[in-house]
Amino acid sequence: MQTLVVDHPLVAHKLTALRDTRTESPTFRRLADELVTLLAYEATRHVRVEPATVPTPLELAQGVKLAKPVPLIVPVLRAGVGMLDGMTRLLPSADVGFVGMARDEATLIATTYAERLPADLTGRDAFVLDPMLATGGTLEAAIRMLVSRGATAVTAVCLLAAPEGIARVERAFPSDAPTAVRVVTAAVDRELNDQGYIVPGLGDAGDRLFGEI
Ligand code: URA
Repeated sequence: MQTLVVDHPLVAHKLTALRDTRTESPTFRRLADELVTLLAYEATRHVRVEPATVPTPLELAQGVKLAKPVPLIVPVLRAGVGMLDGMTRLLPSADVGFVGMARDEATLIATTYAERLPADLTGRDAFVLDPMLATGGTLEAAIRMLVSRGATAVTAVCLLAAPEGIARVERAFPSDAPTAVRVVTAAVDRELNDQGYIVPGLGDAGDRLFGEI
C-alpha cells in the first residue's frame, strides 16, 4: 500500500482552518469541499485513460479521455458525504456508490449498516471518501468490499490520518495484487487518544460537517 501526504501550502492552510475549533459548520463544509478537490487532483494521478482524437479548429489532435468503465466514488456515510462534491467536481462522469458504517464508541469496532455498490468492479478504479483515517477499521472494511468485487485500484481520500490507521491498512493490503491500494491525505497526525480520536486532529468530522445529531 502507498500513502501520499499532499505537501502543498494551500492544503496546509485549509487543513489548519478546519482544525480550528472556532470554524463553524458552514465554513467547515466549504473548506472540506475545497480541500478534497485539492487532494482529488493527486488521488486521480493514476486514473485510467484511453487515447482520444479530437478536431481542433486547425487539425486533429491526439489526447486522452477517461477509460470505460468509469471510476466509482464511494463516500462512507455519514462524514464522507461532506467530501462528495469536492471529488465529483474533478470526476463528474464517475458513478457513485455508498457504504454506511458506524463505529461503536466503546469498542471502536465498525459495523456496516448500509451498502449500495455495483456487484462487479472488474477493471474499475474506486475512490473511497472518509475524512478521518483513525483506527483504520472502517477504511479496511470499506476497501475489502471493493477489493472483493474486483476493483483494479482503490484510493482512499482522507482529510487526516493517524499513524495507527495507516499501519492497519498497510497490514491489511500489503501488496498491489490483486488490487493496488493507496491512501491520499492532507496530513498524518501524532496519534490516537483513548477514545479513538486523532490528536491534534479536528474533532468529530461528522459533527463538524453536519452538526451533533
Ligand atoms: N472520527 C472522527 O470524526 N474524528 C476522529 O478524530 C477520529 C474518528
